[in-house]
Amino acid sequence: VPVIVWFRDDLRLADHPALDAAVTSGQPVLCLFVLEEDTERRPLGGASRWWLDKSLASLDRDLNRLGGQLILRRGDPRRILPEVAASVGATALHFNRRYDQAGSDVDDTLTAMLRQRGVAVVSHAAWLLFEPGAIQTKTGGPFRVFTPFWRAHRPHLAPKAQLRRRPETIAFFKTAVASEPLASFDLHPTRPDWSAGLAESWTPGEAGAKARLVAFLDDGLSRYAAERDVPAAGASSRLSPHLRFGEIAVARVAHEVMKAQDSGSTPVEAAEKFLAEVGWREFAWHLLSVFPDLATRNFQTGFERFAWQEDAVALSAWTTGHTGYPIVDAGMRELWQTGSMHNRVRMITASFLVKHLLIHWRLGEQWFWDTLVDADLASNPFGWQWVAGTGADAAPYFRVFNPITQGEKFDPGGGYVRRFVPELAQLPDRLLHRPWEAPPLLRPDPLLYPPPIVDHDEGRKRALAAFAERR
Ligand code: FAD
Repeated sequence: VPVIVWFRDDLRLADHPALDAAVTSGQPVLCLFVLEEDTERRPLGGASRWWLDKSLASLDRDLNRLGGQLILRRGDPRRILPEVAASVGATALHFNRRYDQAGSDVDDTLTAMLRQRGVAVVSHAAWLLFEPGAIQTKTGGPFRVFTPFWRAHRPHLAPKAQLRRRPETIAFFKTAVASEPLASFDLHPTRPDWSAGLAESWTPGEAGAKARLVAFLDDGLSRYAAERDVPAAGASSRLSPHLRFGEIAVARVAHEVMKAQDSGSTPVEAAEKFLAEVGWREFAWHLLSVFPDLATRNFQTGFERFAWQEDAVALSAWTTGHTGYPIVDAGMRELWQTGSMHNRVRMITASFLVKHLLIHWRLGEQWFWDTLVDADLASNPFGWQWVAGTGADAAPYFRVFNPITQGEKFDPGGGYVRRFVPELAQLPDRLLHRPWEAPPLLRPDPLLYPPPIVDHDEGRKRALAAFAERR
């Protein structure tokens, strides 16, 4: 009799507690993925759907090599799991826990249903380094500020001797089980197929994730503290979509970085800075677990009556990268072309939308949700609320990023802007972030590259006035 491993946001074989538990049970293993529909879970955006398609194919290939297969189904897991369990007579179900309200509601209902039918349901911790709520503030309760959060958690993090690499063999359940073809999920975009830039930029799947980590440990980590804010430097890990789809365990990433630090191959400062960034991911998820509406409601309720503007023209200039501010436009085009954007530029573009254009952060959050390959239920709304000043431990609303000086400071050689805004490639460095100051002969043709859609000083004043009114 088989045990079922239900794969979700953990599309890997290594360091996979649910799979390990099933394999060590000695019973034949049935690997299942359900494309969730008809639940309250937030539907995936377009870029995530593209990634999921490749990642599922990759996991299936890896299982094939071991003599198995990934069974694919679509619909409501509360219907599908009991059906599959009954059809094969499964005695147990293993999965790794998730922490969004809609996801854990599904899991709770399902667990109760299956247990009633005599199926043992076991959930495992794999998504985070720390279980939400396990470590609380001194007065009891969740942390709302990052620094004390990380100060309380970091000492409990150590290289893990018990991490398990991928199982060498898996005894698969061999009886045929109905599986839907991956193509029928319709995850790859057609009419038009806009995914060429994504395919050039990424290798979804466990092997790609592992290669990315190795490359980062080799060239990136030791420069991380100094260069992580420079988009052209390539010093950040680019692991976020791999973590989002669980193609690599966050515990493995932390483990390898701590090992590099212990061995002396990486400066302590670089490793600590990197671990703290992974800590922000933890913090965002811990916050989502106590504030499930993070993507739809201001964390600070004082912002409920803020005078956001409706401006479809400005919104479209922002989404397409035609605001007239080179660093903003480079970021928005990087996002559209590659499905990602450097963290520093995420902050600059988000600030520009929310403050210079006074457009609601939710619209920006939704655009990112649809276009990011790492679109994450917690980190994305958390990042937006942080920038907007509406979140927990957020940047204060009155801190308005200056898109000109930010560009000059973090892209001084212009490598990033020139790559994504080729219309400006001819400008000398000193004018690259302020093309409107170029002499007429050098100035880009306004039909090709527009002048700023809002003057920086005016935009800033308008944002501050709106903020003062709210108070
Ligand atoms: P690295 O610098 O190498 O960091 C390592 C890992 O730590 C990342 O892969 C990521 O998992 C985590 N991490 C790093 N910084 C943050 C952060 N500020 N918040 C949460 N986790 C972090 N990250 C997402 O994974 N998904 C999102 O949907 C997302 N949306 C964002 C929206 C906005 C407006 C902002 C300002 C930030 C957002 N981030 C999001 C956080 C951050 O920009 C990305 O995690 C980072 O750019 C990914 O690149 P990297 O893997 O090279 O990061």
